[in-house]
Amino acid sequence: MKITVLGVGGMGSRFALMLHQAGNDVTLVDGWQANVDAIRANGIQANFNGKQVAAKMPVYTPAEIAAGDVQADLVVVFLKSNQLTTMFDQVQSLIDPNTYVLCLLNGIGHEDVLEKYVAKDHLILGITMWTAGMTGPGQVELLGDGEVELQNFAPSGKDFALQVVDIFKGAGLNPHYSENVKYSIWRKACVNGTLNCLCALLDCNIGELGKTTPAPDLLHTIIAEFAAVAAKEGIKLDTEEVYQHVAATFTADIADHYPSMYQDLNQHHRLTEIEFINGAVARKGKQYGIATPYCALLTQMVHAKEQLVGAK
Ligand code: NAD
Repeated sequence: MKITVLGVGGMGSRFALMLHQAGNDVTLVDGWQANVDAIRANGIQANFNGKQVAAKMPVYTPAEIAAGDVQADLVVVFLKSNQLTTMFDQVQSLIDPNTYVLCLLNGIGHEDVLEKYVAKDHLILGITMWTAGMTGPGQVELLGDGEVELQNFAPSGKDFALQVVDIFKGAGLNPHYSENVKYSIWRKACVNGTLNCLCALLDCNIGELGKTTPAPDLLHTIIAEFAAVAAKEGIKLDTEEVYQHVAATFTADIADHYPSMYQDLNQHHRLTEIEFINGAVARKGKQYGIATPYCALLTQMVHAKEQLVGAK
């Protein structure tokens, strides 16, 4: 199977490296020129659980894809949500009618964008608990363990999704085939929809947020908005279970962690994925006639902060 990883940041590098190490045919596509140049010169360089490793794979810019004839059986997307449309507009030639696209991004509603580029029955959705971080162009830190949960978006994609599970198993990515991945996507979005924007706006880490007296009420209200909208899409979230799941992070090992939106916005002045997290809930809420004032406000505040810091 020819695998193309689209978006070779932290997570794209992790998946590319692990799939390549397991002997798969992996090609890389990335839109950050400095990153492409570094990978072309030195491969993906990773601190892989304390061991320094490097792996060379073919790497292209979107313009090179548009001008060439690279094709893929499976495209594994690891862009930020807000980069999807621009990138897919440029790399349409990568996707022929037989190409499957796997999306493991944080947030909800990516299928609404991807459906414009790939048929529903060639779309696979999921979540991952693996983590990764970039330390510079071509350089990543890949620490700890993780898992992948995935499912074909349309019933006829199941055989291919099961093949992906096998390939990921061989690469040590700990995949599971899910019978209800949409539930897991919404449940994980509740974690991002609370911790990410609140820590980014309040300028604090997860443990510090948890020590504030409004935190329980904020979490309950935001999660209730997610659950009300999810219910309209046939997903029944157990709000108390989800609350306990999120609140457990306040005292867990990751309590001193600054969520990715904090890092993107406050440290690197990059645009955030808010439109696919709280923004998606606010948009869908409007569509279904459900009030989502907290999600709408948080989305606007994050956009305001993006502008204040000159995020790109
Ligand atoms: P990333 O920011 O590391 O990379 C995404 C894209 O942005 C890549 O194309 C990368 O080259 C580009 N990029 C990164 N830094 C840049 C810079 N300074 N200038 C220009 N371009 C730059 O994103 P990621 O952390 O790999 O996340 C990808 C998706 O996976 C997101 O939806 C994220 O929410 C999700 N996710 C991330 C993690 C994690 O631990 N990083 C865990 C689970 C899910």
